[in-house]
Amino acid sequence: MWQKITDEQASVLADCIKKGKPLVALHHSICAYDDWQEYFNIIGGKYFHKATTVNGKLYQPCSYIHDLHFKVKIADPDNPVTKGITDFDIFDETYKGYYIEDGVTVLLTTEEPSSNSVIGWTTNYGKACVVTLQSGHDSPTFENPYFRKLLKQSIEWVYNKGKN
Ligand SMILES: [Zn+2]
Repeated sequence: MWQKITDEQASVLADCIKKGKPLVALHHSICAYDDWQEYFNIIGGKYFHKATTVNGKLYQPCSYIHDLHFKVKIADPDNPVTKGITDFDIFDETYKGYYIEDGVTVLLTTEEPSSNSVIGWTTNYGKACVVTLQSGHDSPTFENPYFRKLLKQSIEWVYNKGKN
């Protein structure tokens, strides 16, 4: 959820990813850098702390709810990131109202009403593959064997795609 970044730092980070450094973005990173719109393009999404206009469309501040049990659905079981993972239950925080860039590949969805329906996706930024997962507030998520497998496969996928 970090906010401070200088123009130079932002440009170096964006260039690094553009050149192919892979990225897996978790949970609070969707809330980072409110005033750096290029970052929204890097991770393919953004949680808004304040009303924000993206590509001419006004988004209101988002909402969150802690400590919910809900079901995560696998949108594409053939994707290397989700391969071998079935729909699973999770105990985590939900976010609602966040921006998701057009054209991302949807990995995970939920029907939990306090959440956006899309909660995991892949995108590309320059030569880099990026996976963004909304989940990951606290230790129960990182103890969840389904989420652990998902995270491991996310890291392997962005890394291996980056080598090709
Ligand atoms: Zn959180």
